[in-house]
Amino acid sequence: MSDHALQRFLSTPRIAYFSMEIALHAEIPTYAGGLGVLAGDVMRSAADLALPMVAVSLVSRRGYFTQAIEPPGRQVERPAEWRPEDRAQPLDAKIAVTLGGRDVWVRGWLHVIEGHMGGQVPIVLLDSDLAENGAEDRHLTESLYGGADEYRLKQEALLGIGGVRMLAALGFRVWQFHLNEGHSALLALELLRRHARPEAELRGDDSPYDVPRVRALCNFTTHTPVEAGHDQFDYGLVSRVLGDYFELDALKELAGAERLNMTRLALNLSEYVNGVAERHAEVSSKMFPGYRVHAVTNGVHPFTWTCASFRVLYDRHLPRWCHEPDLLVRVDQIADDEIWQAHREAKFALIERVRIATGLALDPERPILGFARRMTAYKRPELLFSDLDRLRAIARRFPFQVVIAGKAHPRDEGGKRLIERLHGFARELGDAVPVAFLPGYDMNLALVMVSGADVWLNTPQPPLEASGTSGMKAALNGVPNLSVLDGWWVEGCIEGVTGWGIGEEQSDARADHATVLYSKLESHVLPLYQSDRAGWVKVMKGAIGKNASFFNSHRMMRRYATEAYLR
Ligand SMILES: *Cc1c(COP(=O)(O)O)cnc(C)c1O
Repeated sequence: MSDHALQRFLSTPRIAYFSMEIALHAEIPTYAGGLGVLAGDVMRSAADLALPMVAVSLVSRRGYFTQAIEPPGRQVERPAEWRPEDRAQPLDAKIAVTLGGRDVWVRGWLHVIEGHMGGQVPIVLLDSDLAENGAEDRHLTESLYGGADEYRLKQEALLGIGGVRMLAALGFRVWQFHLNEGHSALLALELLRRHARPEAELRGDDSPYDVPRVRALCNFTTHTPVEAGHDQFDYGLVSRVLGDYFELDALKELAGAERLNMTRLALNLSEYVNGVAERHAEVSSKMFPGYRVHAVTNGVHPFTWTCASFRVLYDRHLPRWCHEPDLLVRVDQIADDEIWQAHREAKFALIERVRIATGLALDPERPILGFARRMTAYKRPELLFSDLDRLRAIARRFPFQVVIAGKAHPRDEGGKRLIERLHGFARELGDAVPVAFLPGYDMNLALVMVSGADVWLNTPQPPLEASGTSGMKAALNGVPNLSVLDGWWVEGCIEGVTGWGIGEEQSDARADHATVLYSKLESHVLPLYQSDRAGWVKVMKGAIGKNASFFNSHRMMRRYATEAYLR
């Protein structure tokens, strides 16, 4: 009775979606941030739309990390342990990948995502914590984005090479592969090996590798224009870890002469390549000359990212919105008062969360600016606090409050300092502008914040925000964005209709952005909130009808299906 639970998934050929992280559930810490949430939303939409997919990721038993804040604002990281047996079923099949001269054995855990219309998709989480392996190798699938280069490369080898072997061992038939970021690009090498032409058929110095055949199987989504987001490994390390797995000269031709560049490898071995917003595809085309980079703008999963009160509202007025979120264009059928009441409910939940976590009592009658994302330099969480006197002056005329959350990568000292500075600003502003920092940003907190805030703020350094998805979640809950025109917001912003833009599209001057942010707040956003309820609800409806109806993962997956998988 081998892997009985899997049988129902094996009869249909599938698209295999490979991701280093995947957000399955708030309590399953196999994700760090936006990339993992997107991967989860991809599979949740696949389940809703009954797309034949299977996802592969690592089990990450110790997760990314749990964040606590120690006074006066220092991030403390604790392991986020979870027990796969509580939320997944062990699979029997076992495969090995030779790393550093040793066979590392891997098994899989099966987690099933169920769509709201009964569709199901399997997720296979790879686990090297097996008795066959020595202590060092047992830790390889344990910490998401933990460890140094060698650990990282071994993880990526287990994901890419091990993942392809595992799917084959389990009996999956895969007709397309989708690489979510370059982390899994070694899977393409495994495919080259599997589809190699037999020695006897080769003439002269023919390559045994059938590159066009593998390219036809692979789709690659690149996610960031930030250099550090593209993994590169030293060929010395690659040789030590992978041994003679792949001929070095051939590898250098595919992955870069100097270092093994995972993005380069993925670009060369994927026929379909895309960025995650129009602007990001343009920027990526410039970064990688010679490659055609399509644009499939990201989206978020409708049901997952809609709070309880809005789910009830949409169910009542726009039944089937979960399957066809395009229906949200008809939001004007819903009375203003119902929209406002649904929002009030979400806002009270956020205020309660803030009270419990920080003791701060926010005022439900005053607007809340929400800001939550990875704490790292290019996201510029401090931009709002560039001029505290100006901020106090604005708040005297139009009182408002701020709620912030976000984790810094454990090795991103700059990001951790940003968290400390944010706490410093909060103390300096005191009662003039109440500022709460909520620790432990995760999927749960994200939903509470994107639905409970009145305005969703985003101030990244253009063009570094590839897409950004938290603003799309806000839109689903009728919360308008106030954001720098970068990533998805270049497409989503209709000034004064769906929210507000900060600055010229191409401008990147920090002072400009802070100045424009302050004047937008003072002359548009806050006065509208304070004195024109009908006008405000109109913008809320603009966010739902014009942003949420489009920037959702159902639309995104329908596009991947027709333009990438079925190309
Ligand atoms: C949605 C989400 C993100 C990504 O948000 P961005 O706007 O892209 O920064 C990160 N972390 C969590 C927990 C999320 O839910």
